[in-house]
Amino acid sequence: MRALLQVNDLKVSYGGIQALKGISLEVGEGELVALIGSNGAGKTTALKTLAGLLHPVSGSIHYRGSDLARVPAHQRVCDGLALVPEGRGVFARLTVAENLQMGAYTRRDTAEIAADLDRMYTIFPRLAERREQLAGTLSGGEQQMVAMARALMSRPKLLMLDEPSMGLAPLMVAKIFETVRDIAAQGVSILLVEQNAKLALQVAQRGYVLESGKITLADAATTLLGSDEVRRAYLGG
Ligand code: ATP
Repeated sequence: MRALLQVNDLKVSYGGIQALKGISLEVGEGELVALIGSNGAGKTTALKTLAGLLHPVSGSIHYRGSDLARVPAHQRVCDGLALVPEGRGVFARLTVAENLQMGAYTRRDTAEIAADLDRMYTIFPRLAERREQLAGTLSGGEQQMVAMARALMSRPKLLMLDEPSMGLAPLMVAKIFETVRDIAAQGVSILLVEQNAKLALQVAQRGYVLESGKITLADAATTLLGSDEVRRAYLGG
């Protein structure tokens, strides 16, 4: 499989704190890859660095074969790298529809934007019913849908999701994960960061385990689900 994203020996620090101590990973075209790990392992740091919001001390990120070192965050969005941040980051005072339109700000193809909006309402019927509602008044799960739909409006090739299950009721988590699977089935590559290791490994093809800034395991998702080490540390025995 051709690598869409290739990360090599990436190191990231916050002042004196080394949050990523040289991680390497890749995401292939059309692949769904999970990055799991406990609190503070460095998962969010990794996604923010890939999105261009943090700058590495050393190491490299190649996307579609080109080095991203000098590519600013907004250009990465135009190039098809979209991040759905932890905590969703919806525009609370804008409506659902306006939030989704913001996701298409890098595009000029008006007719296709309208078609994509309709497509989002098909993927997320709950948002269709609430298109004129202020996003700040939606439930957590609905806000997660807005954040995902907004990212999809940029027509990403690689969608990075930071803990989409966080704070959601089990039924809503199931719904969100079903959608993640559908989005992947449509050919979008996904890098999924989750604390809920079981769910993430159930939808992913491959997974990486991040511990204190280092990748300690990398394997097929089914292998990780069956590994004693992963079961003990992340799946509750
Ligand atoms: P969580 O699941 O809790 O979000 P995470 O795996 O996403 O955890 P990060 O948020 O990437 O972890 O944090 C990795 C390490 O970097 C932690 O030790 C954290 O305290 C530290 N860190 C994160 N952001 C900053 C910051 N802005 N300044 C200083 N240290 C930070």
